[in-house]
Amino acid sequence: MKLEKNINLKKLNTFGVEAFATAMLTIESDSDIQQLTSILPDYPKRLVLGGGSNILFISDYDGLVIKNEISGIEVISEDNNFAIIKIGAGENWHNFTQYCVDNNYSGLENLALIPGTVGAAPVQNIGAYGLEQNSCFERLIALDLLEGGMVELSRDQCGFQYRDSIFKSEQKGRYLITHVFYKLSKSTSVNISYKELSQRLKDNQISQAMPKDVFCAVVQIRRSKLENPEIIGNAGSFFKNPVITQSQLDKLLEKHSEIKYFPFGEDFKISAGYLIEKCGWKGKRIGDCGVSEKHALILVNYGKASGKEIFNLSEKIIESVQGKFNILLKREINLVL
Ligand SMILES: Cc1cc2nc3c(=O)[nH]c(=O)nc-3n(C[C@H](O)[C@H](O)[C@H](O)COP(=O)(O)OP(=O)(O)OC[C@H]3O[C@@H](n4cnc5c(N)ncnc54)[C@H](O)[C@@H]3O)c2cc1C
Repeated sequence: MKLEKNINLKKLNTFGVEAFATAMLTIESDSDIQQLTSILPDYPKRLVLGGGSNILFISDYDGLVIKNEISGIEVISEDNNFAIIKIGAGENWHNFTQYCVDNNYSGLENLALIPGTVGAAPVQNIGAYGLEQNSCFERLIALDLLEGGMVELSRDQCGFQYRDSIFKSEQKGRYLITHVFYKLSKSTSVNISYKELSQRLKDNQISQAMPKDVFCAVVQIRRSKLENPEIIGNAGSFFKNPVITQSQLDKLLEKHSEIKYFPFGEDFKISAGYLIEKCGWKGKRIGDCGVSEKHALILVNYGKASGKEIFNLSEKIIESVQGKFNILLKREINLVL
């Protein structure tokens, strides 16, 4: 266990914004967790940090950052159809999906190349290309930072929703997730309902897609269209796609018949990127931050932008989308003050 003071977090967040934390503790094992509990009373304000790919530091962090680097991938039970796999929360998510396809465990291949750690996946209920992590999620183990002691939480207890869970809402900041369990299939059936994905498989001349084909197609698509944080600071989609009711949709279509929408349960999902683009933001730059030229949903740091400047830009975008479409955009990323 390593406790460091006055740490610059610039290299620990994919936006690449500068922010100093009072202290940072890196934990790698269960014994580190026991030591962590002994210093918690000294730091009432704490933040669990994984890969920093879904976070925006708006100012310095006056508290303890707990950097999760607990590793390990272990098959804990297996039959002819399924395997239950236990993963250390500090494992890299993409490496885990690579492990799954390499070992013929299917179910998460659509989520290849999403940056960050396994421990953050349930927090955000990560999703892409027609799939969310909760479709294979089994349970997790976490340290209760409020009450002390380890807890086990089932899928129902995690309250997964679209890019949301109890860890982002009513229990925000309460748990340090240490291990996640996924139930993966041994079948070769795949989910290619997402149009762009099925088109890419066709382009790759694959008619009977296997999980590995889907994994490769997802990697190809993501490499071609997303901003790489190693080249330009960003945290993926900054906003969630708004979900609206039928009556809201009807009103919207009266004025904006061109709007794209998709059924989402009984409601409808609107593309936030489309709304932002229609407000003229795509490719716009203010100082050292801006909206990606590739995708209007991605805010970028050209080098020296501060978290506050990126936040202010997001406020302007929310205001203009509200003004033009009367839709309130919600941020997907976690703001840290
Ligand atoms: C280029 C790019 C593309 C992306 N594409 C997608 C995408 O397609 N789909 C998608 O859903 N997301 C996407 N994201 C967002 C991001 O990758 C995910 O949200 C990811 O799960 C964040 O992981 P992280 O380890 O970096 O989390 P961090 O940014 O470190 O943390 C995110 C939140 O989770 C909490 N947290 C992290 N670890 C733990 C833990 N062990 N216990 C408790 N709380 C924890 C943090 O406190 C914070 O609130 C993208 C990001 C980038 C930069």
